[in-house]
Amino acid sequence: MTDAAETRPKTDLLNLTRSELEAFVVDELAQPRFRADQLWHWLWNRGVADFASMTNLSGALKTRLAERAAIVRPVIDVVRVSTDGTIKLLLALADGEKIETVLIPMAGHYTQCLSTQVGCAMGCTFCSTGELGLTRNMSMGEILGQILVARMHLAQNSLPPLKNLVFMGMGEPLMNLTELMRSLETLGSAEGISIASRRSTVSSVGIPSALKILGESGLAVPAISLHAPTQELRERLMPKAARVPLDELLGCLDRYPLKQRERVTYEYIMLGGVNDSIAHARQLVKLLGQRRCKVNLISYNPPPPQTGKAPYEAPDPEGVLAFENYLRSKHITTFLRRSMGQDIAAACGQLKLLTG
Ligand code: SF4
Repeated sequence: MTDAAETRPKTDLLNLTRSELEAFVVDELAQPRFRADQLWHWLWNRGVADFASMTNLSGALKTRLAERAAIVRPVIDVVRVSTDGTIKLLLALADGEKIETVLIPMAGHYTQCLSTQVGCAMGCTFCSTGELGLTRNMSMGEILGQILVARMHLAQNSLPPLKNLVFMGMGEPLMNLTELMRSLETLGSAEGISIASRRSTVSSVGIPSALKILGESGLAVPAISLHAPTQELRERLMPKAARVPLDELLGCLDRYPLKQRERVTYEYIMLGGVNDSIAHARQLVKLLGQRRCKVNLISYNPPPPQTGKAPYEAPDPEGVLAFENYLRSKHITTFLRRSMGQDIAAACGQLKLLTG
């Protein structure tokens, strides 16, 4: 080994796409291509975290890998479990930054809510993550590392497996487009994590140029954080997101290349006395009535009292039902999303590194 090789930083294998790993194996390690297949299987399918456990690699190759490469995974700092079974993991990244991921129990499996940024720059007024501001983007290895760590946690605790992914945790995924696209590409790769694109949802406030790229890739289904039926109200609730006028955003989504039976999901967080009246429901029908879509209604979760005064109030449950019924009566497919993990601040809009 040369001095130059000794001083070069090790390559984090979890940060390499399939083709990048192949190039690393062939060019850097001078190994045949099939070694990349073996490594890929160990890293993503088996979730192995050290080279010594890769039993079909030769001793010499394991030594070479240990010199030149690393497997850098987030580390579980704190685990909190809600009374409803929702699990929140506070994860430490290699540079000491912390992020959160949430595992939501469904019938026979879990759905994982993934973070894509440390903090968030969008500053939506109802969201605890937005208060943190943006620290930095997460890398592909960090984004997908959340899945490896969660799978390990579920297996160790004899819990059902992970099936669905929602990119809906800390951060705006489309503001970290490069690493998001690399992550989606890696997710669908054979012999890897292999979670089908129809099982991955990317939630976004809606950035037209990035939505175009996501749509062309066919790698995930979009869910748009709408939260207001008019441009004016959206500007109040989501001032940065609303810089894209509602007309432009909806026009872009009308052109989104959906597969058969797919629809754009619009997320609508119901804020007591702000956007939850029947008048708002009427405006929403006017906006979405003719569109190929479905609407998810989410009741606002005020953050835990120890964090200070909540900016909004929870909506009246009867008002939420009336809102839902009105949309349904106008033939808009509508779901009332049950808020999970509220008692551990793991519900939508509550992720703020409060675990402890
Ligand atoms: S709702 Fe999403 S985009 Fe808005 S501040 Fe929170 S994390 Fe960021």
